[in-house]
Amino acid sequence: MEGGCFCGNVRYEITGKVARVVNCHCTMCRRTSGAPFVTWLIVPVGGFQYLQGQPSLLKSSEKGSRYFCSSCGTPIACTNLDHKAYVDVTLGSLDDPDNFAPDGEFYEDTRLGWVEKAEG
Ligand SMILES: [Zn+2]
Ligand SMILES: [Zn+2]
Repeated sequence: MEGGCFCGNVRYEITGKVARVVNCHCTMCRRTSGAPFVTWLIVPVGGFQYLQGQPSLLKSSEKGSRYFCSSCGTPIACTNLDHKAYVDVTLGSLDDPDNFAPDGEFYEDTRLGWVEKAEG
């Protein structure tokens, strides 16, 4: 299963089993994506590899690192020191995003009022 950024400079593959798919409504996801919320695939770090290009790093918090294409800005991945065994990958950057649907929600306290909760 592969994905990449809008311009094509960064490409990746997921070979590991996707542990969870969640909608994150935190304010950092919202601001860094420009979207109401971000849907993440949570994948074991060993099951995620870059095939081409290297994304830029944004330290978005003390423990959080976000990776995005430096040419086109597409958010690709996020890591957090609190769960080092996993990498979060943006569902929207997958080549076939419709293969997955969210099974849960993070940071519902900052979910926008008009955003419906995904049915699991
Ligand atoms: Zn790009
Ligand atoms: Zn978030």
